Amino acid sequence: LKYKGIRSDSSKSISFVGSHFDVVPVGNLENWEFDPFKLGKIVRGDDIVLTGRGTTDCLGHVALLTMIFKFLATHHQELDLAIDVYGVMIADEESGGKGSNIKVGVDALQEAKKLDMIAKGPVIWLDCADKQPNIGSGGLAQWSLRIEGNKLAFHSGFPNKGVNAIEMANDCLSFIQKRFYEDFPPHHKETEYGFPCSSSMKPTHIIFPTEGKSLNQIPGCLEIQGDIRLIPFYNIYECMESVEKYVAEIIDSKFAVLEPFRLNRGSGSRYESGKLIFKWLGGESNPSETPEEIRRKRGVGGLACDLDSIGFKALRNATEKIIGFCKPLADTGTLPLVADLKSAGYDVQTIGYGLEGKQKICTLFSFK
Ligand SMILES: [Zn+2]
Repeated sequence: LKYKGIRSDSSKSISFVGSHFDVVPVGNLENWEFDPFKLGKIVRGDDIVLTGRGTTDCLGHVALLTMIFKFLATHHQELDLAIDVYGVMIADEESGGKGSNIKVGVDALQEAKKLDMIAKGPVIWLDCADKQPNIGSGGLAQWSLRIEGNKLAFHSGFPNKGVNAIEMANDCLSFIQKRFYEDFPPHHKETEYGFPCSSSMKPTHIIFPTEGKSLNQIPGCLEIQGDIRLIPFYNIYECMESVEKYVAEIIDSKFAVLEPFRLNRGSGSRYESGKLIFKWLGGESNPSETPEEIRRKRGVGGLACDLDSIGFKALRNATEKIIGFCKPLADTGTLPLVADLKSAGYDVQTIGYGLEGKQKICTLFSFK
């Protein structure tokens, strides 16, 4: 949608982007206290709570954007605007078709150069929760660390006879984490943005390909998986390259750098015949990919909105005026496509209304 201000020479714009027509699946119907397929109304004091799937995330925002454009059209003369206003609603939840090759989201619009005109001013991403600007999100990279020692589990009475994959995997991880936290310590801008925690690299998942059936079996193989959540003032692709270097330090030293950790494991513990395989997860791997291509494909960039932007100041002032206070949000969750727009040079700001929980509700007041 394009609205040309009455005095606009089309050198400046403001855009509202990201509201989508599709809605999040209902999931388990038993979790709903009301009918998700019906728009419900609950009067709460002076306010009205709207219930039902799509009230937030994201038909509420589609409706809000529609109202904005209706207002622009019916108040053309009085507004007397000297800028253009754009609205971009999308047909797919941000990502342009998860698990599908058909792209219909904002990334497809960007590729087709349909978003070029919105670069002339702030781009307000209108799809987040709840009533406060969301000014920061994290970079993300998912990884797998696999230890191959003995093909089969072996008897715990003879720990000297093989590689204890649990011990070795944990010591590899300890070394990598130590190096990670040295290179990516808490960033001085975190407090200003309000991030509740710093960058992290941690295990979240564990797989035993040759799990011993009884307690006296030492597993010869083990895979630990996890992720990196990176504060957006660091570059996720550079971070991934650094982690690859830590892995290389372990392998090039023939595991000597693990010694400070291994020494806590008793004299029977040995790693020299073990093998460490580290890789980034996500997507099909292709043998011809370069390390740089792998990083670009697997890593997700973080977002740090420009707090000096006229767009942010307008959101902050409006939020203070209507809600009474402005406390922007930032965390190391991801907003992949929003972050992509920012790194493509757009002045991206975000706002949204309604609560995204198990159930979808929003209040009419917050949409004002
Ligand atoms: Zn959404």
